[in-house]
Amino acid sequence: MDLRHIIRDVPDFPKPGILFKDITPVMENPAAFRAALDGMEGLLGEVEFDALCAIESRGFIFGAPMGLDLDKRLVLMRKAGKLPAETRAVTYDLEYGQATLEMHVDSLKQGDRVIIVDDLLATGGTAVAAAQLVADAGGIVAGFLFMVELEFLTGRAKLEGLGPVFSLVNYS
Ligand code: AMP
Repeated sequence: MDLRHIIRDVPDFPKPGILFKDITPVMENPAAFRAALDGMEGLLGEVEFDALCAIESRGFIFGAPMGLDLDKRLVLMRKAGKLPAETRAVTYDLEYGQATLEMHVDSLKQGDRVIIVDDLLATGGTAVAAAQLVADAGGIVAGFLFMVELEFLTGRAKLEGLGPVFSLVNYS
């Protein structure tokens, strides 16, 4: 199953000059979605971890079925103001402006080993913020897991020293 042929390129979305990697055709094809999940789970190999932290919103698409497949806790990292109970927040810079990720304060225990999961690694800013949230909660990043990595944006370099990076489909 070549996911590269199923992921759709959408030029100039959400703004001119950005080539958006649209993963919706993968979700609309159960065999492709299953192959993506199996492939991502396979990348984790023998990595030991306690919980998957999925980043809103496309990270949820992968985190939820993987949590059930692997029998691991699923923890949600959400955009500002979405989680109902007490949260910790990390604010980070985007190309234009800022964004905030939040996690419930009781989602992780001290020393929990965590896999951070999202659909795509671009510049790495979102994943760095997610790792900060894990660290603030006393957790340990056991790895970062993505379906797609845009290698030319060098996000992996930003994650150096924070944990191993696993990605299934790479664009150089
Ligand atoms: P970044 O913080 O730059 O690594 O951006 C990662 C987040 O932005 C991921 O959650 C992606 O969903 C989204 N993203 C960034 N660039 C793209 C792109 N070219 N195609 C699809 N999604 C993207």
